[in-house]
Amino acid sequence: MRYEEPVFRPPSEARSLILQATIGCSHNKCTFCSMYNTKRFRVRPWEELGPEIEKIGREYPFVKRVFIADGDPLVIETPYLLKIVETLYSNIPSLERVAIYATPQNLLDKTEEELKALRERGLKLIYLGIESGDDEVLKETRKGVDSKQMVEACRKAINAGFTLSTMVILGLGGRDRWREHIINTARVVNAIGPHYLAALTLMVFPRTPLHIKVQKGEFKMPTMRQIMEEMRLLVELVEVPTIFRSNHVSNLLSIGGTLPRDRAVVLQQIQSAIQTTPEAPLPMEYQGAF
Ligand code: SF4
Repeated sequence: MRYEEPVFRPPSEARSLILQATIGCSHNKCTFCSMYNTKRFRVRPWEELGPEIEKIGREYPFVKRVFIADGDPLVIETPYLLKIVETLYSNIPSLERVAIYATPQNLLDKTEEELKALRERGLKLIYLGIESGDDEVLKETRKGVDSKQMVEACRKAINAGFTLSTMVILGLGGRDRWREHIINTARVVNAIGPHYLAALTLMVFPRTPLHIKVQKGEFKMPTMRQIMEEMRLLVELVEVPTIFRSNHVSNLLSIGGTLPRDRAVVLQQIQSAIQTTPEAPLPMEYQGAF
């Protein structure tokens, strides 16, 4: 397989074959994100993808899951994306699931019919970064949508029949706006009802606009205790049924459960961790000092 590094995938796609249908992210403006800032966005042409998919079928016919990368391949025009998904299924006899990264803009740009057609042909799971439900934080981080559009985009995906796996970032409101960040994030999550909800912890990467703000003192990094308080508040406020995970490499405490069913147990774990978490800044590796 020919990959243009770096390649990212969600932790739950660790056993999937990755098909890099696009290079980079068509948005590429989020102030906290450095994932694709070395790449110029482009959709890979059929001359490259067609033979690659045929090769997968010949050399890895046992593959059950394919993950389509890079940052937001749902941006691909629907007829071309349908062709990619159909060719994957027709070449890989054991294929059961195709998943993809998407931005809210990608979903807003597609019609309901287009999304349903993609779902019917076997694109089953969408991973999407909500990051925050707070309009101020969304604006500051240049996510490209407000909370209303975020809800609309995600509901569109669920209504079309997709499984929706979402991510939010603890600490993204900094020290000054953490409460609003979490209250509004829970509000948005409750309006969406995602099947999965992952809470990551903010890590500031060098050479990002957010890193510059941290260095200038314009963004106050959250403390470790604050991150735990954010996690507690989020778990308290999420009312919709969702599989909650906070077990990313960035997280200070690894927890998970089905909300709201397991809320009491999860809160108990967070509470005991809070008692031993210092009111100290996040370690230097969280602040862009690698
Ligand atoms: S949309 Fe996602 S991949 Fe693209 S810049 Fe924002 S966080 Fe990064």
